[in-house]
Amino acid sequence: MPGMRRLMGVLLLCLSGLAAAADLPFIYPQARNIFHDAEAYGGFEGVPPSVPVFKGGKVIGYLFLTDDVLRIPAYSGKPINTLVGIDTEGHIAGLAIVHHDEPILAVGITQERLNRYVVQYEGKSVFDKIVIGAPRPGHVNIDGISGATITVMVENATVMRAARAVAESRGIRNPGIAAAASLPPTGIAPSPPAMERAIEAAVAEKPPQQVEKQSSATADAAQDMPQPPRRGEKRMLAAARAAATATPTGGAQAPTLVHGVVPLSPEMPPRAIAPLPEQPGTWLPPGEEPAWIAIWQNRKFEIAVLVVGLAVLFFILVFQDWLARHPTALIRIRNVFHVYTLFFIGWYGLAQLSVINVLTFANSVMSGFRWDHFLIDPMLFILWSFVAMTLLLWGRGVYCGWLCPFGALQELILIASRKLKLPALEFSDAVHERLIALKYIILIFLFGVSLHSIAEAGWYAEIEPFKTVISMRFQREWEYVFYALVSIALAAVNRKFYCKYLCPLGAALAIPGRFRLFEWWLRRRKECGKPCQVCSHHCSVRAIRPTGEINANECHYCLDCQVIYYNDNLCLPLIERRKRREEQIQRGRKTQSDVHADALSPLADDPVSMPKGSKP
Ligand code: SF4
Ligand code: SF4
Repeated sequence: MPGMRRLMGVLLLCLSGLAAAADLPFIYPQARNIFHDAEAYGGFEGVPPSVPVFKGGKVIGYLFLTDDVLRIPAYSGKPINTLVGIDTEGHIAGLAIVHHDEPILAVGITQERLNRYVVQYEGKSVFDKIVIGAPRPGHVNIDGISGATITVMVENATVMRAARAVAESRGIRNPGIAAAASLPPTGIAPSPPAMERAIEAAVAEKPPQQVEKQSSATADAAQDMPQPPRRGEKRMLAAARAAATATPTGGAQAPTLVHGVVPLSPEMPPRAIAPLPEQPGTWLPPGEEPAWIAIWQNRKFEIAVLVVGLAVLFFILVFQDWLARHPTALIRIRNVFHVYTLFFIGWYGLAQLSVINVLTFANSVMSGFRWDHFLIDPMLFILWSFVAMTLLLWGRGVYCGWLCPFGALQELILIASRKLKLPALEFSDAVHERLIALKYIILIFLFGVSLHSIAEAGWYAEIEPFKTVISMRFQREWEYVFYALVSIALAAVNRKFYCKYLCPLGAALAIPGRFRLFEWWLRRRKECGKPCQVCSHHCSVRAIRPTGEINANECHYCLDCQVIYYNDNLCLPLIERRKRREEQIQRGRKTQSDVHADALSPLADDPVSMPKGSKP
């Protein structure tokens, strides 16, 4: 009887192994497109875990999920889980993205474009150094996906590093290095005696009821053994099919023949027989550096130009009073900066900040902050760092007025519309005051959705036309393009309509901007609002209240009001003062140069010029 029990155990373990072997293509049918001539699939085994693929009783390659090997957070802060196949020579047989939370892939990239991207990996060696975009010596270059640069770079790093890790763990060596070394043969399934010995050892250690339990639940011991269906095993397959329908886990699903093997469970089997050496999130192949370092090195030019641009802006802000006294220079510099922002930061660098960045950050803080989530895109990281600093000093206006590519586009459109003398469309104060609350409501809604799912929030965040206009350069479905064009057209007749009423990012920036350290950057007079309304009427962003105060939550830091502040032909108190002094000159008490010097005297010395709300 012990012999019979042993035989039954061997049979059940074989069946469970065969059934588990079918689970990968059953759960991920994409596996069949990776190895077209596969005859059978093993179970997950080894560290990192992978599934051996069989043909003619031999291993012809391995399939694995990148989440089991290496998890590099992408744009959404979550890794892109990809099913990858490599052959026994270390060539990539194919890959398929099986799960991601990338908003850009969810709504912006068609399946066809994604397929065109992933197909480029086929035939590449896992030891190749692959770069996206421009060719580099010693590297193999492939085309990226326009508008999804970071996503694609993270995907590339994930796939290549995970593939290399799996290849090396299976004894596949870089041909250049391996030529000198004598390596044990790889890719051959364990010999039947070896399999049998393993099964026998497993059976001998376990009582019958435990063996039975294993057989119905894809036991770990069975995963240890590849299960190539060899000649003569067809009868076992038929038995396996019957066993699958009879077991509680397999009965729920109609068994489907996948390359002649029966799937048992709709659930993926346990991946590894042993835990990974470290958490996959932190695990890197030996000698590898975090993916963001390579990305920063690749983007040195963009980083340099961005840093220079930010330095210029910093000087503009520090010397804003001088510029406000030279309006022609200010307007020219501002226009040139808007062109730089739109073309370089936006269309070239794809560094348009988005409310999704804010939501991802908030989620990350709540679920375990990791720097590498944010270092992945150097342009975004540097821009966000600068914006954080300017929020504390100047409020949201610096980003919205100078660094937002979509904001810059709206300003340039407004210039064109003024040249064309298009009519202006303005709401009454009462309507305006209510409409500006809309963007805060949108922000709160998006935040609520993001707590449930960042990907879903990404879908709703399409209220931002940024992706269509900046990231995708209008290469999207017509609904998105139509919405974006309407947003831009509205800016032609109502300055920054989208910013004032709809932008959730602007709303998100206004909140920390309330805690800025200084109040006195934008100068005001005690006559502002009482009775003078000149600035208030000139501020077409409508950030100056009728009472004269600047609403920092709405101000875009264009400095128009500061030009008025220093202009004795526009600013009412200055006009009156100038007239008084001109009268004095006429009466012979002062010279013309005294009048001019008075008009431009430092404001801090002038009691009427002390900024509103400034602290003594
Ligand atoms: S309100 Fe929004 S779109 Fe407008 S400038 Fe600010 S971030 Fe850009
Ligand atoms: S004119 Fe309006 S938007 Fe421009 S700086 Fe002054 S208050 Fe801000």
